[in-house]
Amino acid sequence: MPLAGIPVAHKDIFCTEGIRTSCGSRMLDNFIAPYDATIVERLDAAGAVSVGKTNMDEFAMGSSNETSFYGPVRNPWDTERVPGGSSGGSAAAVAARLVPAATATDTGGSIRQPAAFCGVTGLKPTYGRVSRYGMVAYASSLDQGGVIGASAEDCALLLGAMAGFDERDSTCVEHPVSDYLAELDSPLESLRIALPKEFFDDRLDARIRASIEEAVAFWERQGARLVEVSLPNLPLATPAYYVIASAECSSNLARYDGVRYGHRCADPENLDDLFCRSREEGFGAEVRRRIMLGTYALSAGYYQAYYGKAQRVRQLIRQDFQEVFEQADVIAAPVSPVLPFLLGEKLEDPVEMYLIDCYTIPVNLAGLPGLSIPTRPIDGLPTAVQLIGNYFDEARMLRWGHVWQQETDWHRQVPPEFA
Ligand code: GLN
Repeated sequence: MPLAGIPVAHKDIFCTEGIRTSCGSRMLDNFIAPYDATIVERLDAAGAVSVGKTNMDEFAMGSSNETSFYGPVRNPWDTERVPGGSSGGSAAAVAARLVPAATATDTGGSIRQPAAFCGVTGLKPTYGRVSRYGMVAYASSLDQGGVIGASAEDCALLLGAMAGFDERDSTCVEHPVSDYLAELDSPLESLRIALPKEFFDDRLDARIRASIEEAVAFWERQGARLVEVSLPNLPLATPAYYVIASAECSSNLARYDGVRYGHRCADPENLDDLFCRSREEGFGAEVRRRIMLGTYALSAGYYQAYYGKAQRVRQLIRQDFQEVFEQADVIAAPVSPVLPFLLGEKLEDPVEMYLIDCYTIPVNLAGLPGLSIPTRPIDGLPTAVQLIGNYFDEARMLRWGHVWQQETDWHRQVPPEFA
């Protein structure tokens, strides 16, 4: 049993049999899952001990963990600041060493961005690498479960236990599972690192850039070679994402109707009243905004103009990445353009909040794996570099992350209040 006795926490988006699975929403406040998600089942089978569920943005929509029905999560490094989102509860729990590792999901950055904000390591696997059975759906063509741990080594250990084919998820890919842990120590191959200029634009905080350059310089000293490449369509990723994610969520969340499970309003007058009031009361403002946006984008006459167009942009982005991977083995990029911000700071402006994911979203649009690794903190606040690999190249990304973590100790640091 590779994980015998190791405590883990599960993001509250994963169904846990007999235990409330709320997805951070009033809508599911009363929902006791009747079965375990595959991720939960597999970690259990590997010997892990589930110690609880972690808070999250409502239905995984958010970048700051402030949209949860249960209130925000705070960043253990500075409790006035956000931990990132939507897997902020999992990232904060690992950062504060409440658990060594936690499960998480990433639709547009929700594993990598909170990991970066909390100074821990987060892996978003290739789309299809890990089963999504029992994971509450947000945007199905983008959602992917993964792991947050202190180190690349811990992520490798958990990924090995979670990954692999599952016939209950039709998007899960039949592809051999590497021994990620053993491969951490295999000899370093020559590596071509791409630094696409679109990832280092003027949105990026110059201090974060310097912190990333320090890691890249280290990898160069280990024999990596830098290649200059371009991802010309990258700036289109965020707008395309918010059309696709909203469209898919409006369809996925149609199932919460107050009839079968979830919140039901009191004393409905008729069926329409039951639907409308149950949904109005059950969903928070951000979720309702996305459902409205998505329903609009999918409505007759607009479908091709919005959803169809966004899907074509997505195809261009995917092609851009494939061209890069003909010349390079991994891409080094920022995770977030900004440092962890203050609670409430960006709540008034949803678009500003959406733009925080500009460096993580392209990876989900292409279905690629992404790894967030701590780099030198800035004024006591964590920051990170993102390694993006080609499909199913998690072992290589983890190995190069691990090499950096043998040289540095940022990932071992614990917030003073929790040391
Ligand atoms: N912040 C992005 C959104 O709100 C990504 C969230 C996620 O990855 N679940 O959609």
